[in-house]
Amino acid sequence: MNDNALPPASIGSFMDTTTALRQRFPASTHEVTNVARELVDYNMYREDRALVEAVRREGAAWADGALAEFGALAGSGEYLELGVLANRFPPELDTHDRFGNRVDLVRFHPAYHALMKSAVEHGLHSSPWTDPKPGAHVARAARFYLQTQVEAGHLCPITMTFASVPSLRTTPEFAGLWEPKVTARVYDPRNVPASAKQGLTIGMAMTEKQGGSDVRANTTRAYPLAAEGTGQAYELVGHKYFVSAPMCDAFLVLAQTDAGLSCFLLPRWRPDGSKNPLQVIRLKRKMGNVSNASSETELRGALAWMLGEPGHGVRTIIEMVAMTRFDCMVGSTAGQRAAAAQALHHCALRAAFGKRLAEQPLMRNVLADLVLEHEGSLALTMRVARALDASADPQEELLARVATPIGKYWVCKRTPNHAYEAMECIGGSGVMEDGPMPRLFRESPVNAIWEGSGNIQCLDVLRAMRKSPPVVDALFAELARARGASTALDRWVTELRRDLADPSEVEFRARGLVDRMALALQAALLVQHAPPVIGDAFCAARLAGAGARNFGSLPAAVDAAAIVARATPHA
Ligand SMILES: Cc1cc2nc3c(=O)[nH]c(=O)nc-3n(C[C@H](O)[C@H](O)[C@H](O)COP(=O)(O)OP(=O)(O)OC[C@H]3O[C@@H](n4cnc5c(N)ncnc54)[C@H](O)[C@@H]3O)c2cc1C
Repeated sequence: MNDNALPPASIGSFMDTTTALRQRFPASTHEVTNVARELVDYNMYREDRALVEAVRREGAAWADGALAEFGALAGSGEYLELGVLANRFPPELDTHDRFGNRVDLVRFHPAYHALMKSAVEHGLHSSPWTDPKPGAHVARAARFYLQTQVEAGHLCPITMTFASVPSLRTTPEFAGLWEPKVTARVYDPRNVPASAKQGLTIGMAMTEKQGGSDVRANTTRAYPLAAEGTGQAYELVGHKYFVSAPMCDAFLVLAQTDAGLSCFLLPRWRPDGSKNPLQVIRLKRKMGNVSNASSETELRGALAWMLGEPGHGVRTIIEMVAMTRFDCMVGSTAGQRAAAAQALHHCALRAAFGKRLAEQPLMRNVLADLVLEHEGSLALTMRVARALDASADPQEELLARVATPIGKYWVCKRTPNHAYEAMECIGGSGVMEDGPMPRLFRESPVNAIWEGSGNIQCLDVLRAMRKSPPVVDALFAELARARGASTALDRWVTELRRDLADPSEVEFRARGLVDRMALALQAALLVQHAPPVIGDAFCAARLAGAGARNFGSLPAAVDAAAIVARATPHA
């Protein structure tokens, strides 16, 4: 025995003391009580009654069973975890390999690839094109909305691939070549030429340093290799300051020609198997949409073929942009549902001052208001989806033309404050990175800014009204369906019509006008189709109330308990 060791008798008395201490101060310091649990393993579709109703109402009842299957997948803990991992381990860029060869390779976490594979295999990038029928856009929007609640970033290339099809179709020889693989339900992330793949993804590159909204300022130049014009080969020299998903197999790119700004299809690999020099300079360091690699690029003589007419690049790519704007609406509506679901779930489980939070009158007011916001967004989004399905009908085409920028502007712009308010419902834990709220919050401004920021959407509404006045008739015909259902709405619509007829300072007033169009459309849809408790509350809160206000200012007559009960997901 060394001198420092305790004799056996001392060990015995030490143990006695420890046991006595443990009885007075147990090692287990406390029980964890009155906290929520993860919102997992629930049917994200079935638990969203507003969604189930919208899908049936807008013509996709045939998809109900498949959506319920997808909703079970989307709400499963395992699938939701893919979204967590794809953001915890963001993409990384290798410009060169270890031997010094230029590779422009973006590496993603396997969770990102798993989500991409699932999105493609479920046709989120193509189903309305491969299987067009009444309700096709509605069913696809519903799936996209569910998948967004799992993870938003990977849906950027999915949207761009989906949206590229109308632009590809402007040039039939390219549509014939590319569309079958662009719409195929095959995800192949390999960095190899398009000819070696069965499934392709498409990106888009318009924005340059000196101008994003105003693409006429583009300086990237296209030089013809031989003949000029539609379908001909060019080499592009210049830069693109935002290119999301640079691992796509091809990109729709704007560049200047002698005829003016034109649209091009630029493959990642040249047909001879050599690398096309669209070089990735760096990945953007974004506050949100982290799983999606967005890059800065330079084009050093990159091969591309002209799509559409020379000098009509904007007209060609706008077909794609219209669809991406629609997906922004769907995505932000999904963000609102995800945020509201988290707040409702938490407040159903957590008590303070003797009651569940969801039963405290003031919290009930806040929750019901968050739900109303989402109900309005969903009703408008799904109505636009039906208009896309029915675009052979001129009235529906006009409605889609004007309601897409209205909805893109309004729904996306309402989302950040909605996400923040939902975060506050959860309290301090809502701010913590180990929960879903920070990701939802950081994601929330993105849809409002890309694909044409807020002002650009409002100016687009004015442009549509100026260039195609029948869009105004289509808008008011849609609103007229709800006439008589609410005096507040009737008055709102009359005043809106009066103020739209006033041409003075219309650009300066554009946001105010588009705000009112959006609210009119949402209210008209809800009073016709949602349960009266929703439609009445929406009109009372959004049309009869005055000016700017925070969530949670619903008037006392609103049945907030019923609204909260309808929307609370059961895991
Ligand atoms: C995460 C992310 C990914 C992106 N990915 C891509 C991509 O893959 N491909 C791509 O091409 N682009 C991409 N973008 C770029 C995006 O589309 C542009 O940032 C956006 O179009 C705005 O352009 P800008 O940044 O040049 O801003 P600007 O055009 O300078 O606009 C700045 C502000 O001015 C406002 N404004 C502009 N003109 C007017 C006017 N006439 N009247 C009133 N207000 C006006 C705008 O609404 C905006 O609020 C991405 C952006 C983000 C954030």
